[in-house]
Amino acid sequence: MEILHIRNISVEVEWKNIKNIHLTLYPPDARIHISAPVSMTKEAVRLFVISKQQWINQRVEMIKSQSRQTQREYVSGENHYFKGIRYRLNVFIRNAPPCVTLSGTRYINLQVREGSNTTKRAEIMKEWYRNELKQVIAPLIEKWEELLTINVNHWEIKQMKTQWGSCNHNAKRIIFNLELIKKPTHCIEYIVLHEMLHLIERLHTSRYIALLDIHMPNWRNIKNELNEFIV
Ligand SMILES: [Zn+2]
Repeated sequence: MEILHIRNISVEVEWKNIKNIHLTLYPPDARIHISAPVSMTKEAVRLFVISKQQWINQRVEMIKSQSRQTQREYVSGENHYFKGIRYRLNVFIRNAPPCVTLSGTRYINLQVREGSNTTKRAEIMKEWYRNELKQVIAPLIEKWEELLTINVNHWEIKQMKTQWGSCNHNAKRIIFNLELIKKPTHCIEYIVLHEMLHLIERLHTSRYIALLDIHMPNWRNIKNELNEFIV
């Protein structure tokens, strides 16, 4: 791995035995990573980055603003995502058990007790998100267990930093990222299917891709959509 500084951009470059150059930006700091074919010179990589400069700058801005968004205070007026829709948060102080409800597709109502701080509010929201995600995922797992004639031994939801889901092929265990609940349900279903197919085929082999193509022909679009919004 090598770091190249090109104009105002720092890029990690890794030369690999691949055919095409790949450019990836990673949250939360919009780290830029390039995988380049071994045959490609440093100068060619430099020119590639310059040709993409405008696109890169836009992406960097987007990722950074999304990262800022995750620093939440849980006060009224903040934007919070749920199933792919942006809601406004309304905080109500009430001497009653905390709860979260929706008003149509506009407001998330967060009811908390007096003196409830940001940490407490975040916990309440997280619990609500977790429950909602469970309710989305459970029937999807059932559906795909039947369609694929496989069994998931165990699945759970966790907060993860770098992936939407993970699958332990041998133990038949799947973990889903809690952040998924912020994505549209077709994106959630793609991750459910993606991880479940790993029970059949452990790695992203051509057989694996063929299975995805059969069961969700538009998976590539959905994957792109998912990666547009960052954890
Ligand atoms: Zn995978």
